[in-house]
Amino acid sequence: MGVKVTANELIGVVTDLRAHVRHAARNHLSGHDVADVVRSVAGLVDELRRLEPRFRVRTHALGVSVAGAVDRDRGIARYEPFHGWRDLRLADLISAETGLPTVVDNDVRALTEAENWFGVGARADSFLLVTVGAGVTGGLVVDGRVRTGAFGVAGELGHVPVDPRGPRCYCGATGCLEAVASEPAIVRRAAELLGEPDLALPDLVRRAQGGDARVRGVFEEAGRAVGRAAAGVVNLLGPEVVVVSADHQAGLALLEPHLRAALHEASYGAAGRAEVVVRLAPFEEWARGAAAVAIARRIGDFTSPPG
Ligand SMILES: [Zn+2]
Repeated sequence: MGVKVTANELIGVVTDLRAHVRHAARNHLSGHDVADVVRSVAGLVDELRRLEPRFRVRTHALGVSVAGAVDRDRGIARYEPFHGWRDLRLADLISAETGLPTVVDNDVRALTEAENWFGVGARADSFLLVTVGAGVTGGLVVDGRVRTGAFGVAGELGHVPVDPRGPRCYCGATGCLEAVASEPAIVRRAAELLGEPDLALPDLVRRAQGGDARVRGVFEEAGRAVGRAAAGVVNLLGPEVVVVSADHQAGLALLEPHLRAALHEASYGAAGRAEVVVRLAPFEEWARGAAAVAIARRIGDFTSPPG
Protein backbone atom coordinates (compact mmCIF):
# COMPACT_ATOMS: atom_id res chain seq x y z
CA MET A 1 0.00 0.00 0.00
CA GLY A 2 0.99 3.57 -0.48
CA VAL A 3 -0.22 6.69 1.28
CA LYS A 4 0.52 10.29 0.39
CA VAL A 5 0.18 12.80 3.21
CA THR A 6 -0.79 16.33 2.16
CA ALA A 7 -1.63 19.36 4.29
CA ASN A 8 -5.25 18.33 4.79
CA GLU A 9 -5.78 14.98 3.12
CA LEU A 10 -4.50 11.41 2.93
CA ILE A 11 -4.56 9.59 -0.39
CA GLY A 12 -4.10 5.82 -0.23
CA VAL A 13 -3.78 3.04 -2.79
CA VAL A 14 -3.48 -0.73 -2.80
CA THR A 15 -1.23 -2.00 -5.55
CA ASP A 16 0.12 -5.29 -6.75
CA LEU A 17 3.87 -5.94 -6.92
CA ARG A 18 4.06 -4.21 -10.29
CA ALA A 19 2.50 -1.11 -8.76
CA HIS A 20 -0.79 -1.46 -10.61
CA VAL A 21 -3.38 0.34 -8.50
CA ARG A 22 -6.19 -1.99 -7.40
CA HIS A 23 -8.06 0.40 -5.15
CA ALA A 24 -7.76 3.98 -4.03
CA ALA A 25 -9.31 5.99 -1.21
CA ARG A 26 -9.00 9.44 0.31
CA ASN A 27 -9.51 10.65 3.87
CA HIS A 28 -9.70 14.17 5.18
CA LEU A 29 -7.12 15.07 7.84
CA SER A 30 -8.52 16.94 10.78
CA GLY A 31 -5.31 17.99 12.54
CA HIS A 32 -1.56 18.49 12.25
CA ASP A 33 -0.78 16.62 15.42
CA VAL A 34 1.51 13.64 14.78
CA ALA A 35 -0.68 11.22 16.75
CA ASP A 36 -3.80 12.30 14.80
CA VAL A 37 -2.09 11.90 11.43
CA VAL A 38 -0.61 8.51 12.36
CA ARG A 39 -4.02 7.31 13.52
CA SER A 40 -5.60 8.58 10.30
CA VAL A 41 -3.00 6.79 8.18
CA ALA A 42 -3.73 3.57 10.10
CA GLY A 43 -7.46 4.16 9.61
CA LEU A 44 -7.06 4.57 5.86
CA VAL A 45 -4.85 1.49 5.63
CA ASP A 46 -7.46 -0.48 7.55
CA GLU A 47 -10.22 0.80 5.28
CA LEU A 48 -8.28 -0.33 2.20
CA ARG A 49 -7.44 -3.70 3.74
CA ARG A 50 -11.12 -4.38 4.37
CA LEU A 51 -12.10 -3.86 0.74
CA GLU A 52 -11.12 -7.40 -0.19
CA PRO A 53 -10.26 -10.39 2.06
CA ARG A 54 -6.99 -11.00 0.18
CA PHE A 55 -5.83 -7.45 0.88
CA ARG A 56 -5.95 -8.27 4.57
CA VAL A 57 -3.64 -11.27 4.29
CA ARG A 58 -1.53 -10.25 1.31
CA THR A 59 -0.55 -6.71 2.16
CA HIS A 60 3.15 -6.94 2.96
CA ALA A 61 4.44 -3.42 3.15
CA LEU A 62 3.44 0.20 3.40
CA GLY A 63 5.04 3.26 1.85
CA VAL A 64 4.20 6.72 3.11
CA SER A 65 5.26 9.86 1.29
CA VAL A 66 5.42 13.33 2.75
CA ALA A 67 6.64 16.73 1.58
CA GLY A 68 9.99 18.08 2.66
CA ALA A 69 13.25 16.49 3.73
CA VAL A 70 13.12 12.79 4.54
CA ASP A 71 15.83 10.39 5.65
CA ARG A 72 14.43 7.30 3.97
CA ASP A 73 17.03 4.88 5.31
CA ARG A 74 16.24 5.79 8.90
CA GLY A 75 12.51 6.41 8.40
CA ILE A 76 12.75 9.97 9.71
CA ALA A 77 10.86 13.04 8.48
CA ARG A 78 13.63 15.62 8.91
CA TYR A 79 11.43 18.56 8.03
CA GLU A 80 7.81 18.37 6.86
CA PRO A 81 6.52 21.88 6.04
CA PHE A 82 2.72 21.28 6.08
CA HIS A 83 2.58 19.83 9.58
CA GLY A 84 5.73 21.39 10.98
CA TRP A 85 7.38 18.08 11.85
CA ARG A 86 11.08 17.97 12.56
CA ASP A 87 13.24 14.86 13.06
CA LEU A 88 10.21 12.65 13.50
CA ARG A 89 10.59 8.85 13.47
CA LEU A 90 7.54 8.58 11.26
CA ALA A 91 8.15 5.08 9.85
CA ASP A 92 8.36 3.54 13.34
CA LEU A 93 5.23 5.35 14.54
CA ILE A 94 3.15 4.27 11.54
CA SER A 95 4.52 0.74 11.58
CA ALA A 96 3.58 0.38 15.27
CA GLU A 97 0.03 1.55 14.52
CA THR A 98 -0.55 -0.47 11.32
CA GLY A 99 1.56 -3.57 12.03
CA LEU A 100 3.09 -3.23 8.54
CA PRO A 101 6.77 -2.75 7.68
CA THR A 102 6.78 0.91 6.71
CA VAL A 103 9.07 3.07 4.64
CA VAL A 104 8.73 6.84 4.44
CA ASP A 105 10.05 8.97 1.63
CA ASN A 106 9.84 12.42 0.16
CA ASP A 107 6.78 12.56 -2.10
CA VAL A 108 8.54 13.69 -5.27
CA ARG A 109 11.35 11.21 -4.83
CA ALA A 110 8.74 8.46 -4.37
CA LEU A 111 6.97 9.57 -7.56
CA THR A 112 10.32 9.49 -9.35
CA GLU A 113 11.09 6.01 -7.99
CA ALA A 114 7.74 4.77 -9.33
CA GLU A 115 8.50 6.29 -12.72
CA ASN A 116 11.95 4.72 -12.65
CA TRP A 117 10.75 1.24 -11.71
CA PHE A 118 7.44 1.02 -13.47
CA GLY A 119 7.20 3.95 -15.92
CA VAL A 120 9.58 5.53 -18.43
CA GLY A 121 12.51 4.16 -16.40
CA ALA A 122 11.74 0.76 -17.89
CA ARG A 123 12.92 2.07 -21.28
CA ALA A 124 15.12 5.06 -20.40
CA ASP A 125 18.26 5.10 -18.21
CA SER A 126 18.06 8.83 -17.65
CA PHE A 127 15.02 11.05 -17.37
CA LEU A 128 13.76 14.23 -15.80
CA LEU A 129 10.40 14.34 -14.05
CA VAL A 130 8.70 17.72 -13.62
CA THR A 131 5.47 18.22 -11.70
CA VAL A 132 3.42 21.39 -11.88
CA GLY A 133 0.69 22.03 -9.33
CA ALA A 134 0.49 23.79 -5.98
CA GLY A 135 4.27 23.82 -6.35
CA VAL A 136 6.73 22.96 -9.08
CA THR A 137 9.09 20.12 -8.31
CA GLY A 138 11.27 17.65 -10.09
CA GLY A 139 13.00 14.33 -9.86
CA LEU A 140 16.12 13.25 -11.66
CA VAL A 141 17.19 9.78 -12.75
CA VAL A 142 20.70 9.41 -14.17
CA ASP A 143 22.07 6.05 -15.26
CA GLY A 144 19.17 4.21 -13.70
CA ARG A 145 19.29 5.72 -10.20
CA VAL A 146 17.23 8.47 -8.62
CA ARG A 147 19.73 11.21 -7.82
CA THR A 148 19.45 13.23 -4.65
CA GLY A 149 22.89 14.83 -4.70
CA ALA A 150 25.16 15.63 -1.78
CA PHE A 151 22.46 17.53 0.10
CA GLY A 152 19.28 15.73 -0.92
CA VAL A 153 17.94 18.49 -3.16
CA ALA A 154 19.04 17.35 -6.62
CA GLY A 155 16.18 17.59 -9.11
CA GLU A 156 14.53 20.55 -7.32
CA LEU A 157 13.59 22.18 -10.57
CA GLY A 158 11.08 24.44 -8.80
CA HIS A 159 13.87 26.55 -7.34
CA VAL A 160 15.92 26.93 -10.46
CA PRO A 161 16.12 30.68 -11.11
CA VAL A 162 14.32 31.59 -14.34
CA ASP A 163 13.71 35.33 -14.03
CA PRO A 164 15.96 37.72 -12.08
CA ARG A 165 13.17 40.31 -12.21
CA GLY A 166 10.52 37.78 -11.30
CA PRO A 167 8.48 37.45 -8.13
CA ARG A 168 9.98 36.56 -4.79
CA CYS A 169 9.79 32.86 -3.92
CA TYR A 170 8.82 31.56 -0.48
CA CYS A 171 12.30 30.02 -0.30
CA GLY A 172 13.78 33.51 -0.07
CA ALA A 173 15.20 33.69 -3.60
CA THR A 174 13.85 35.74 -6.49
CA GLY A 175 12.41 34.45 -9.75
CA CYS A 176 12.40 30.72 -8.99
CA LEU A 177 10.47 28.59 -11.48
CA GLU A 178 7.94 27.80 -8.76
CA ALA A 179 7.29 31.52 -8.17
CA VAL A 180 6.45 31.87 -11.88
CA ALA A 181 4.78 28.62 -12.91
CA SER A 182 3.01 27.01 -9.94
CA GLU A 183 -0.79 27.22 -9.85
CA PRO A 184 -0.78 29.89 -7.12
CA ALA A 185 1.81 31.86 -9.11
CA ILE A 186 -0.34 31.70 -12.25
CA VAL A 187 -3.41 32.77 -10.30
CA ARG A 188 -1.53 35.62 -8.61
CA ARG A 189 -0.10 36.91 -11.89
CA ALA A 190 -3.48 36.80 -13.64
CA ALA A 191 -5.19 38.51 -10.70
CA GLU A 192 -2.62 41.33 -10.92
CA LEU A 193 -3.03 41.73 -14.67
CA LEU A 194 -6.82 41.64 -14.59
CA GLY A 195 -7.17 43.62 -11.38
CA GLU A 196 -9.47 40.95 -9.95
CA PRO A 197 -8.22 39.60 -6.63
CA ASP A 198 -10.61 36.66 -6.16
CA LEU A 199 -9.80 34.49 -9.14
CA ALA A 200 -9.23 30.74 -8.97
CA LEU A 201 -7.54 28.44 -11.47
CA PRO A 202 -10.79 27.07 -12.96
CA ASP A 203 -11.90 30.67 -13.71
CA LEU A 204 -8.63 31.31 -15.50
CA VAL A 205 -8.85 28.09 -17.47
CA ARG A 206 -12.36 29.03 -18.62
CA ARG A 207 -11.25 32.51 -19.66
CA ALA A 208 -8.17 31.22 -21.45
CA GLN A 209 -10.27 28.65 -23.29
CA GLY A 210 -12.67 31.44 -24.16
CA GLY A 211 -9.82 33.32 -25.83
CA ASP A 212 -8.86 35.94 -23.21
CA ALA A 213 -5.41 36.95 -24.51
CA ARG A 214 -4.16 38.29 -21.17
CA VAL A 215 -4.94 35.03 -19.36
CA ARG A 216 -3.54 32.96 -22.20
CA GLY A 217 -0.38 35.08 -21.92
CA VAL A 218 0.00 34.15 -18.25
CA PHE A 219 -0.19 30.44 -19.10
CA GLU A 220 2.25 31.00 -21.96
CA GLU A 221 4.75 32.73 -19.66
CA ALA A 222 4.47 29.92 -17.10
CA GLY A 223 4.74 27.17 -19.73
CA ARG A 224 7.80 28.78 -21.32
CA ALA A 225 9.48 29.09 -17.93
CA VAL A 226 8.96 25.35 -17.31
CA GLY A 227 10.36 24.57 -20.76
CA ARG A 228 13.45 26.77 -20.31
CA ALA A 229 14.22 25.32 -16.88
CA ALA A 230 13.84 21.78 -18.22
CA ALA A 231 16.11 22.69 -21.15
CA GLY A 232 18.82 23.61 -18.65
CA VAL A 233 18.71 20.07 -17.27
CA VAL A 234 18.45 18.54 -20.73
CA ASN A 235 21.58 20.41 -21.87
CA LEU A 236 23.49 19.56 -18.69
CA LEU A 237 22.64 15.88 -18.25
CA GLY A 238 21.16 14.72 -21.54
CA PRO A 239 18.19 12.69 -20.28
CA GLU A 240 16.37 10.57 -22.85
CA VAL A 241 12.93 11.58 -21.64
CA VAL A 242 11.36 14.59 -19.94
CA VAL A 243 8.06 13.80 -18.19
CA VAL A 244 5.92 16.80 -17.30
CA SER A 245 2.87 16.12 -15.16
CA ALA A 246 0.19 18.10 -13.38
CA ASP A 247 -2.96 17.30 -11.45
CA HIS A 248 -5.10 19.67 -13.51
CA GLN A 249 -5.81 18.49 -17.05
CA ALA A 250 -7.09 21.75 -18.54
CA GLY A 251 -4.31 23.81 -16.96
CA LEU A 252 -1.73 21.36 -18.27
CA ALA A 253 -3.20 21.58 -21.77
CA LEU A 254 -2.79 25.37 -21.67
CA LEU A 255 0.86 25.09 -20.62
CA GLU A 256 1.86 22.24 -22.91
CA PRO A 257 2.45 23.91 -26.30
CA HIS A 258 4.53 26.66 -24.69
CA LEU A 259 6.65 24.40 -22.55
CA ARG A 260 7.30 22.16 -25.54
CA ALA A 261 8.25 25.15 -27.72
CA ALA A 262 10.57 26.69 -25.11
CA LEU A 263 12.22 23.37 -24.34
CA HIS A 264 12.79 22.77 -28.02
CA GLU A 265 14.18 26.27 -28.64
CA ALA A 266 16.56 26.18 -25.67
CA SER A 267 17.86 22.62 -26.15
CA TYR A 268 21.41 22.39 -27.40
CA GLY A 269 22.09 20.18 -30.38
CA ALA A 270 21.29 16.51 -29.98
CA ALA A 271 20.06 17.07 -26.40
CA GLY A 272 16.89 18.34 -28.06
CA ARG A 273 16.06 14.80 -29.14
CA ALA A 274 14.81 14.10 -25.62
CA GLU A 275 11.27 12.78 -25.82
CA VAL A 276 8.77 15.00 -23.98
CA VAL A 277 5.85 13.23 -22.30
CA VAL A 278 3.10 15.45 -20.89
CA ARG A 279 0.44 13.82 -18.76
CA LEU A 280 -1.96 14.05 -15.86
CA ALA A 281 -0.80 12.84 -12.43
CA PRO A 282 -3.53 13.00 -9.79
CA PHE A 283 -2.62 12.45 -6.12
CA GLU A 284 -3.34 8.71 -6.51
CA GLU A 285 -0.22 8.60 -8.71
CA TRP A 286 1.78 10.09 -5.85
CA ALA A 287 0.36 7.50 -3.44
CA ARG A 288 1.36 4.84 -5.97
CA GLY A 289 4.86 6.31 -5.77
CA ALA A 290 4.87 5.63 -2.04
CA ALA A 291 3.78 2.05 -2.74
CA ALA A 292 6.58 1.69 -5.29
CA VAL A 293 9.13 2.66 -2.65
CA ALA A 294 7.68 0.03 -0.32
CA ILE A 295 7.91 -2.56 -3.11
CA ALA A 296 11.51 -1.60 -3.86
CA ARG A 297 12.41 -1.84 -0.17
CA ARG A 298 10.66 -5.19 0.13
CA ILE A 299 12.54 -6.73 -2.75
CA GLY A 300 15.80 -5.35 -1.45
CA ASP A 301 16.68 -2.52 -3.80
CA PHE A 302 17.64 -0.09 -1.09
CA THR A 303 20.57 -0.54 1.21
CA SER A 304 19.75 -1.15 4.84
CA PRO A 305 20.13 1.76 7.25
CA PRO A 306 23.72 2.26 8.35
CA GLY A 307 24.32 1.75 12.06
ZN1 LIG B 1 12.46 29.23 -4.59
